[in-house]
Amino acid sequence: MNVNQSAPPLPPFGQSQPVYPGYHPSSYGGQPGSTAPPTPYGAYNGPVPGYQQTPPPGVSRAPPSSEAPPASTAQAPSGQAAYGQFGQGDVQNGPSSTVQMQRFPGSQPFGSVPLAPVVSQPTVLQPYGPPPTSAQVTAQLAGMQISGAVAPALPPVGLGYALPPGTQMTGPPGPPPPMHSSQQPGYQLQQNGSFGPARAPQPNYGSSYPGAPTFGSQPGPPQPLPPKRLDPDAIPSPIQVIEDDRNNRGSEPFVTGVRGQVPPLVTTNFLVKDQGNASPRYIRCTSYNIPCTSDMAKQAQVPLAAVIKPLARLPPEEASPYVVDHGESGPLRCNRCKAYMCPFMQFVEGGRRFQCCFCSCINDVPPQYFQHLDHTGKRVDAYDRPELSLGSYEFLATVDYCKNNKFPSPPAFIFMIDVSYNAIRSGLVRLLCEELKSLLDFLPREGGAEESAIRVGFVTYNKVLHFYNVKSSLAQPQMMVVSDVADMFVPLLDGFLVNVSESRAVITSLLDQIPEMFADTRETETVFAPVIQAGMEALKAAECAGKLFLFHTSLPIAEAPGKLKNRDDRKLINTDKEKTLFQPQTGAYQTLAKECVAQGCCVDLFLFPNQYVDVATLSVVPQLTGGSVYKYACFQVENDQERFLSDLRRDVQKVVGFDAVMRVRTSTGIRAVDFFGAFYMSNTTDVELAGLDGDKTVTVEFKHDDRLNEESGALLQCALLYTSCAGQRRLRIHNLALNCCTQLADLYRNCETDTLINYMAKFAYRGVLNSPVKTVRDTLITQCAQILACYRKNCASPSSAGQLILPECMKLLPVYLNCVLKSDVLQPGAEVTTDDRAYVRQLVTSMDVAETNVFFYPRLLPLTKSPIESATEPPAVRASEERLSNGDIYLLENGLNLFLWVGASVQQGVVQSLFSVSSFSQITSGLSVLPVLDNPLSKKVRSLIDSLRAQRSRYMKLIVVKQEDKLEMLFKHFLVEDKSLSGGASYVDFLCHMHKEIRQLLS
Ligand SMILES: [Zn+2]
Repeated sequence: MNVNQSAPPLPPFGQSQPVYPGYHPSSYGGQPGSTAPPTPYGAYNGPVPGYQQTPPPGVSRAPPSSEAPPASTAQAPSGQAAYGQFGQGDVQNGPSSTVQMQRFPGSQPFGSVPLAPVVSQPTVLQPYGPPPTSAQVTAQLAGMQISGAVAPALPPVGLGYALPPGTQMTGPPGPPPPMHSSQQPGYQLQQNGSFGPARAPQPNYGSSYPGAPTFGSQPGPPQPLPPKRLDPDAIPSPIQVIEDDRNNRGSEPFVTGVRGQVPPLVTTNFLVKDQGNASPRYIRCTSYNIPCTSDMAKQAQVPLAAVIKPLARLPPEEASPYVVDHGESGPLRCNRCKAYMCPFMQFVEGGRRFQCCFCSCINDVPPQYFQHLDHTGKRVDAYDRPELSLGSYEFLATVDYCKNNKFPSPPAFIFMIDVSYNAIRSGLVRLLCEELKSLLDFLPREGGAEESAIRVGFVTYNKVLHFYNVKSSLAQPQMMVVSDVADMFVPLLDGFLVNVSESRAVITSLLDQIPEMFADTRETETVFAPVIQAGMEALKAAECAGKLFLFHTSLPIAEAPGKLKNRDDRKLINTDKEKTLFQPQTGAYQTLAKECVAQGCCVDLFLFPNQYVDVATLSVVPQLTGGSVYKYACFQVENDQERFLSDLRRDVQKVVGFDAVMRVRTSTGIRAVDFFGAFYMSNTTDVELAGLDGDKTVTVEFKHDDRLNEESGALLQCALLYTSCAGQRRLRIHNLALNCCTQLADLYRNCETDTLINYMAKFAYRGVLNSPVKTVRDTLITQCAQILACYRKNCASPSSAGQLILPECMKLLPVYLNCVLKSDVLQPGAEVTTDDRAYVRQLVTSMDVAETNVFFYPRLLPLTKSPIESATEPPAVRASEERLSNGDIYLLENGLNLFLWVGASVQQGVVQSLFSVSSFSQITSGLSVLPVLDNPLSKKVRSLIDSLRAQRSRYMKLIVVKQEDKLEMLFKHFLVEDKSLSGGASYVDFLCHMHKEIRQLLS
């Protein structure tokens, strides 16, 4: 141990306060009086200032009660703090169960599917009507809700999407034909590949085309025909589905008052009005009508899952959840199942008791909460109380909900900076220290608070750790070195965590001096686990929760706990050992993560690797503590500073809930059985999150444990107990009611494919930790085929087996699933590194539905087709090379990457307007910043790029790609409807394969 208590005062350094172009701290929220232009999500300023002060009449302020706090206290597992009653409930299931997906015996491995030659005898196609035997149809049309029998005037929703046998190619690819309306009944694909009402076969039907396989099996002697190619315009188009939903549902607000409504797609802009169910911004489900029995659910194989984003940021037009204060008595809960008071609780006996909607237990209403009922049995104050009328709200938690029965201290942020040779040489340390000087003024704060309650601390490290005393009374910061990394301790308490405004001068001095102190370092080795350990110990000593911001450059090979070796081995790809590439190489980080979670210590990791750093191992602690990982390979200030600083500003400023526990309760008949996301679980029901921010989601899977009832439906209640940025202990409650069905058709009519894909991707990405990647892919294909075969068998009207019929709500399932199957994690190309795969695997785990949607199927926007004056985003085109015109320019984004593709024949005027050069050949390939030019096209494109970036949670660095340039390979990787270099199937081929799988299941 070597504590240098008497380090000499550090020499003063420059005072400059750099301003980076384009930096508008106020647009990141937290700054009252922000003048930044509102962006769809970027301008959310945390809880609406003053919203807590002005609850609706009657909200909260219940008089303190003499009644004892809730009875029992959950026994915390060893090493975990007790959370009062929060976690109390049934602990039923053992190790988490997952969807049963056995491989279908007859199914072919995907890749080269030999398709039998077929005769494509024309069949007269019958327009198909509503699926048989649907007891109840719930149709949503432009916000309208119709329940009960299908109104004859309204087209039934959820009809199949049919491809007839022998669908053929219609000449060269061209502009898509007029698209069908997905809501129109009886529409199906015609033999000539265009949409329209079913009609007799066309004369050219049956002619053969070179290319891909066909499908269809009709009576008559088999006779080989040359294979035909499926017309890409004749198969379901993601772009069309997105456009239709925008047109049909984008204009009306989504009102949540009715049970089981399918919300608009995540790609549609819409407002939400909370009338008793949680907004889809908080919870989205794979289906809003779930089978009554587990037999039905097993038959359909549709996963029942909810993607929950408890602290989702809302657009400025939507109010944050109200905070309800019940005083010392705390929130009202069911005595048996501990569910929180919500709009679905039934008041009985004149209002003196209530029946729990989750477990049916009859509970007494405490006297201070009593209210009379109206003639319908509703409490007369129902609309004055958020917890009786809204889907989402918060309760102030009492001391019973606090660790060790003590109200928490405000959280702390600790900045832990790698100062080894690589970090210094790349310019990272200087850039970061300069940035922190101004960024510390924008720490998250609540309501109208003038300054953030969050305290800050600083550590630098290489092979040893340096702690800094930045106490306000010091003239200069003091450094303390801890070189005994095997037995980490915090050498100072007083002066380590400080208030920014009080210690500003000392902090500024420190941040000025750090780059100078280590400017000449030759130290290349780093430690990693001891750094996290130190931060966690510091929070423990200060008795608070908080977040560590680690800025790290290299594989930690220095002698210390958590030391790693380079074990990257591409030869393992496609072997049974490939899974080891995704697993951590030591268990030390899981142990450390568990300690962090117990302390409410969330870890955000910024990586700047020049080579393999073992992301799979380094991301274990961020992953288990609800943190984030950012990776900037081969970081150079001049190329990457904008991206890094933008991510850093957003990350530091975002509102976080600390030391959180989430529990999902369900009504009798279903229960939560499996969870996906960045968190830790020490039992089977409580999701523990050292930190949870507004970007993170938890995907929850449900299984039946009893029969459900159509009349009562199914209820979910997600309760998140957390400590706010100001140190207030709160409960955020989200409620959602779903319909239940006895007819499979109702399930298929109320599904959401984007949410299904979110679940399936997370399921698969977890699967690669334990199974060969090929097994994971096959499992997904089989499950998808089973889902579609079940629909075909039970819901579609009888038709030729040669037809592929897809449920309307799932017609994009094949194309999206194919994108998951060929993603870098499941089918890597030669250029994808092991670290990239581990990184993406980790990112997807916490993504919401909108993020997985665009990540797996990127958005491709033509830039010169629509008029320059048009203020709106241009309509996207399908992600396929054949949709690119060499006379146009396109933007492609997937939430992480952003490309500008320039066609080789683009007009010279366009080239001049955008790049300020006179010809295509003079455009610099790989350019990442467009010149700022004063013309309409340049302004439009740059503002579109800004708007795309504002919609995403991470900064997307631009890469300009020229047609036929070598960088184009990288770009083409994202044209996901095409066959990929790594062997991933084209959409057309995959659809043929799915059809074959379905037919095998049906025969
Ligand atoms: Zn109950």
